[in-house]
Amino acid sequence: MRGRLVVGNWKMNGGLAQNAALLSALAAGWRAGADREMAVCVPFPYLTQAKGLLAGSAIAWGAQDVSEHASGAFTGEVSAGMIAEFGARYALAGHSERRQFHGERDEQVAAKAKAALAAGLTPIVCVGETLAEREAEQTSAVVTRQIDAVIRALGTAMARTVVAYEPVWAIGTGRTASPEQAQEVHALLRGRLASAGAADVRLLYGGSVKAANAASLFGMPDVDGGLVGGASLDAREFLAIGLA
Ligand code: PEP
Repeated sequence: MRGRLVVGNWKMNGGLAQNAALLSALAAGWRAGADREMAVCVPFPYLTQAKGLLAGSAIAWGAQDVSEHASGAFTGEVSAGMIAEFGARYALAGHSERRQFHGERDEQVAAKAKAALAAGLTPIVCVGETLAEREAEQTSAVVTRQIDAVIRALGTAMARTVVAYEPVWAIGTGRTASPEQAQEVHALLRGRLASAGAADVRLLYGGSVKAANAASLFGMPDVDGGLVGGASLDAREFLAIGLA
């Protein structure tokens, strides 16, 4: 069975005092169940703090990016092995802000997912189309290209990933995909994953998820949870999304 997974992406937000309040409130308020899981992906400097404040809770933590390299002369990069040492379970790979502002290509995203798996992390592979691509009716072609690059690189290990569909036009804009729009793309992705023997991969929707719209999105047959940016910075809101 594919359980519900809700992951917070803090992006480049936070500070020691603010994080302590947020993480403590989440740890105190989260009621895990066999069928639901929560995680937060924090900026690298806060992995120790997440480990300290979430250890013993049912909330997992992770990073927002990972290098495709294991070690070496890659100034500023952080390897999957380093992230794993902090007890992290997850690493995002190919978030649209990485693709947009750092020029990450499909093959590089696939290599990052592979590096994460090799270090024992679960990569959360992000895919999604821009507004221009949606308006040009290229959504299917774009997400198929993005997911197929990762499937080609990982083979059967694809089954050990999580995939997030995040339409770029819905991220941080307050403009959410309708449940039907999300389901249409999730069904397509499910088909690609099934053909790679990875039908049970959890498929998250991301893009302006809030407590008010989470239940209708998560109620769709191929939506297994959410990747949540802005709303994950508010403990009460994020807990409500997790329990939606
Ligand atoms: C994200 O950062 O992945 C995201 C979906 O952001 P938001 O929820 O703020 O749209």
